[in-house]
Amino acid sequence: METSKPGRLPAFSPTRLGTFLDCRTKYKYIYVDRIGRFYQKPHAYFSFGSTLHQVLQAYHGPAGTHTLEFLFHTLNSRWITAGYESADEETEYRELAASVLRLYHENTINRTDLVETDAVECNLSLNLGKFKLTGRIDRIDRHPDGSIEVVDYKSGRDTVTPDDVLNSLAMRCYMLLASRTMLATGVTGTIVALRTGTSASASMTPSQLEAAADEISALGNDILETDITLGEPVRIQLCEKCEFILRCERAWRSSSKSRGIPAEPGER
Ligand code: SF4
Repeated sequence: METSKPGRLPAFSPTRLGTFLDCRTKYKYIYVDRIGRFYQKPHAYFSFGSTLHQVLQAYHGPAGTHTLEFLFHTLNSRWITAGYESADEETEYRELAASVLRLYHENTINRTDLVETDAVECNLSLNLGKFKLTGRIDRIDRHPDGSIEVVDYKSGRDTVTPDDVLNSLAMRCYMLLASRTMLATGVTGTIVALRTGTSASASMTPSQLEAAADEISALGNDILETDITLGEPVRIQLCEKCEFILRCERAWRSSSKSRGIPAEPGER
């Protein structure tokens, strides 16, 4: 079972909740054993995504001037170099970032007259009884009718639909957080697929928000009641791209040996 410092509620972010749903072994490695830093190496797509997030944070922040010049200047000053395999790869990503930001600017420039940005990279927290739901939201806009829009940037995807918004655990968490902690007449979630400039939005009704609160409470309570230290890793589809695969393969090999099962070809 999870523990936290006396007097402090455990804090669960959407990423943490999603990791528990994806793979309990991965959850244990990252949040209980805290060995993620030994396995999670910098990657081009992480650096690319983090750079774009930082540039857009500045663009919509108090010092942002909503000009292309500002975007490109910020891109240069905030560029993260870690994780690229070669100078050529880094140049390709830099060019992609410039074209993504140009498209973003074209799609956004007229919108900034209609809505007001309330917050960027905004940390929100909500007490759900035995734990706190926390979330860092890329941007929160306020519309003239008093409703709020929670905006999430995706730097790796090309398409998005309104169903994607409602089916995303992270977006349900963000909309719940925003609706419960900010004064608003309604809440909408928007995912922006930065590479194509496509975006999709969906709203949640009060009863959908209530259902999301129940779902997230149940999930958080499940984490608190689960003895995460028990059990062996189970091979799933996600293993193929998981950074912990070498560690899990070692565990599978040693459990095969202890049961007298011959190792698979290549597993020696
Ligand atoms: S390799 Fe597979 S079982 Fe191991 S942590 Fe990753 S997803 Fe989970």
